[in-house]
Amino acid sequence: MVENAIDAGASDIQIIIKDAGKTSIQIIDNGCGMSQTDARMAFERHATSKIAKAEDLFCIRTMGFRGEALASISAIASVELKTKQDGSELGTHICISGSEISSQEQATCTKGTNFLVKNLFYNVQARRKFLKSDRAEYRHILNELHRIVLTNPEVSFTFVSDNKQVFKLQAENIRQRIISIFGKSINQNLINLGTETSIVKINGFIAKPERSKKSASEQFFFVNNRYMYHPYFRKAVEMAYGNLIPEGEHPSFFIYFNIDPSNIDINIHPTKTEIKFEDEQAIFQIVNAAVKEALGKFNIVPSLDFEENITRDAHFTSTTSVRPPNIKINPDYNPFEQGNTQNYKRETIPNNWESLYNPTQKKTPDDFFLPEETQVEQKSLLDDNAIKSEGKGIFYQLKNKYILTSGKSGLIIINQKRAHERILFEKFLKLLETRKGVVQKTLFPVIYEPAPSERAILVEVMSELNNIGFEIVMMGKDKFEIRGVPGDLTDVDPNKILDQMIYVMGEVSGSAEMVLHEKIALSLAKTAAFKIGKQFHEQEMEDLFYSLMSCSNHNHTIEGKKILEIISVD
Ligand code: ADP
Ligand code: MG
Repeated sequence: MVENAIDAGASDIQIIIKDAGKTSIQIIDNGCGMSQTDARMAFERHATSKIAKAEDLFCIRTMGFRGEALASISAIASVELKTKQDGSELGTHICISGSEISSQEQATCTKGTNFLVKNLFYNVQARRKFLKSDRAEYRHILNELHRIVLTNPEVSFTFVSDNKQVFKLQAENIRQRIISIFGKSINQNLINLGTETSIVKINGFIAKPERSKKSASEQFFFVNNRYMYHPYFRKAVEMAYGNLIPEGEHPSFFIYFNIDPSNIDINIHPTKTEIKFEDEQAIFQIVNAAVKEALGKFNIVPSLDFEENITRDAHFTSTTSVRPPNIKINPDYNPFEQGNTQNYKRETIPNNWESLYNPTQKKTPDDFFLPEETQVEQKSLLDDNAIKSEGKGIFYQLKNKYILTSGKSGLIIINQKRAHERILFEKFLKLLETRKGVVQKTLFPVIYEPAPSERAILVEVMSELNNIGFEIVMMGKDKFEIRGVPGDLTDVDPNKILDQMIYVMGEVSGSAEMVLHEKIALSLAKTAAFKIGKQFHEQEMEDLFYSLMSCSNHNHTIEGKKILEIISVD
């Protein structure tokens, strides 16, 4: 309906919802309005004013063109429409519900269109039950609105939910619009991007690597001013960033494609967010190059990739500032301590060194460098004899992703990330209930500026967070200061913790029954859980294993994913 308002040339659109739209949705625009006949016609299936001749089908630039939205909506809700065209004395007022018109009369109203949709699915209770929690449905609406407002910066939008104004956007340019939506903090991170080729024109913004998110919540492609979901092109962008962004994080981008409509097929998906391009591979290259170029302009260059033929010096200009190299050391490392011998052994010549010189025997690198001790352990583990003489368990880490150990019935394979998530979840939940978190003061307070629409979530959970070891202080309308975080989260950038936590709060709300404490615990656990690929010392594996075993449920994550698998001896 908001798209309809845009197609009607509105310059000001108000969206007013109650109970995440379940009770009512109202869209008010100042667009061209409808005549009395058209107002009546608009609810008929396949009634559209947007295709006048057959050729129009091949150059669609409006949002809708199938005449389905209003017919469908009026079939499952009560709809009230008031509309007036410019220059008409009187407008039209129509009430329709369950596809039946209950009244139609002339009325005085302002120019434009005012739709009020009430009691969604009142006559299809089964479908109404499938609506998600209010928070989840609200999120969907907000996401959908973001897609629309980001392509129509010249239109002013007001969004009101349950009598509270979520945003009021003045007509502005795209950059300002992005800032209005995602908060002032994104401003200094935006990099211009633009390129023009014979098949496509691309412009927009990408964000500097430090803006990257754990979610894809700030990734937007638009084609001819319509949002599109395009995993393949997204790959083109992410590849251009290369290793500037840590694994598991995603760059923010707002990329607008302009293309001759006859070169794309917007019909492949009912909601039309998936779009088929004729020259997909060529465009992939264009997108990839455009992002690389934009990053390059700001001296943000992915580290050398050897396929490319560039010399090292090319990265340095007289103005480049040079950072001293950064080496990670473990200050607690004591080479004389027991248990550190394994690291030392790795450096020595492998016992089976001779095989290095035997070209007929093909071996993997692991074969050469696994210290003998580990190979023995691995063997005994498979022998179901995992208890060393001191009575400790034997643990083996596979590909930095799984922990293997021997159980009574067979080989236990633990997904280390999921295990850690479960452990932290239970820990945070307990802290939330006992309110005994320990604050770890951050060295320098960090300013956090959530996107305006996310502020409410943070305010809602702030006192809970402060109970479990955060110290977050409100510094005015849009600003928060993070002065401390719980001990388990000290490795993570505090801004990222809150970003991620707010994001997960929005996502996990899908299951309505989850109580607030569980949601907070889950989102923190997900934020703090080890990245896939962390390498463990034996002691760490053992700790993880026993912490997992003491959890109330060690088999599944909160979201129902398997934490461990046992391969029986048989
Ligand atoms: P479509 O957008 O695919 O044409 P819809 O069912 O969404 O189909 O709308 C049917 C018709 O109703 C539109 O083609 C348009 O003529 C008219 N219409 C709908 N909303 C508005 C509006 N806000 N202002 C003016 N006309 C509208
Ligand atoms: Mg439409």
